[in-house]
Amino acid sequence: MPVSYMEINLNALRHNLRVIRQHLPKEVNVLAVVKANAYGHGAVETLRIAMEEGYTAAAVARVEEGAKLREAGFTCPIYVLGLPLPEDMLMGVKYDLTLPVDDTVDLDAFEDIAKGAGKTVEVMMPIDTGMNRIGTHPEDVKPFLKKLAGYPHLHLHGTWTHMATADCKDKSAALKQLDRFDEAIAQMPVTDDFVISSANSAGVIDIPKSWHNLARPGIIIYGPQPSDEMEHKLDLQYVMRIVSHVTHVQTLHKGEAIGYGGTYVADKDMKTATVPIGYADGYPRCLSNKGEVLIGGKRCPIVGRICMDQFMVAVDDSVKPGDEVILMGRQGEGEITLDEVAKTAGTIPHEITCDLKRIPRVFVEK
Ligand SMILES: *Cc1c(COP(=O)(O)O)cnc(C)c1O
Repeated sequence: MPVSYMEINLNALRHNLRVIRQHLPKEVNVLAVVKANAYGHGAVETLRIAMEEGYTAAAVARVEEGAKLREAGFTCPIYVLGLPLPEDMLMGVKYDLTLPVDDTVDLDAFEDIAKGAGKTVEVMMPIDTGMNRIGTHPEDVKPFLKKLAGYPHLHLHGTWTHMATADCKDKSAALKQLDRFDEAIAQMPVTDDFVISSANSAGVIDIPKSWHNLARPGIIIYGPQPSDEMEHKLDLQYVMRIVSHVTHVQTLHKGEAIGYGGTYVADKDMKTATVPIGYADGYPRCLSNKGEVLIGGKRCPIVGRICMDQFMVAVDDSVKPGDEVILMGRQGEGEITLDEVAKTAGTIPHEITCDLKRIPRVFVEK
């Protein structure tokens, strides 16, 4: 086993996928959002279990991510969420990915690429109902559809919109976005197999109006609730644990400083332990002098600044080199949750798990 690693609990992942699937009516399909390597958890492994649990498709941010899933053998629809430039279209067509197009995309280039490959490409039409990121506005849907109809190698597969505030306590803006989405849908050629989608994780939990015929949960697959303003909660389990081991133990004498900048000075003789993970691994540097870890089930505060590859914690006399350190997850009676780490770092759980890229993933079932 490596000294520092990310433990991914496949049973917890399966539990969450099942809870989400069971929360939605049978007639609503669900895809697994596995962008950014499944928010750091491993896209191939996550999607494999999602398929076993009855999920019908995957969503990724970029064509390269979709290509990797195809090369791993997945044959389900793979939706790319980000708008393609011509370079992306080539790869998207090669790997049979479902790409989004709005009224800013170069459809001539796309048609040429599809025609050149001898394929009819499935495209999605994202609608901008208030996020102001990508998508055609509802009032521009008619002319855009008319234009799209002139490209015989681009086939309209469905539509989606993305809510900006579904995880807020006040749902009025999200509901207004869904009304705008309805206006857009009313102008589309809706057949039985036309895909309509707007539910992110918060929509899945709190907003039945957003379910349509395809839900797109991301973060809840991995354990956190979408925010602490949610009206309802699903019974979810954290999937990721961050494990390391003490490499060095020493006495820090009263008056001595520790780490870069000497930002922590011992006010009495104390023991410190060194942990071989740092900000280059994605452990946030802003946890310097703020975060805590578990050793022997007990909390140990970080002392001094987090370095690129290591940091130091205050420990008691029992701690020795080789002891297991938990940066995130359970150990004995103790637990440091992903939500706690994110809160202390002043960010959201998504950013924490996406950033943890250098340490290897170890998959367990327990
Ligand atoms: C990331 C993303 C999702 C998933 O969002 P969560 O809040 O993690 O559930 C769904 N749809 C789009 C368009 C996204 O970009």
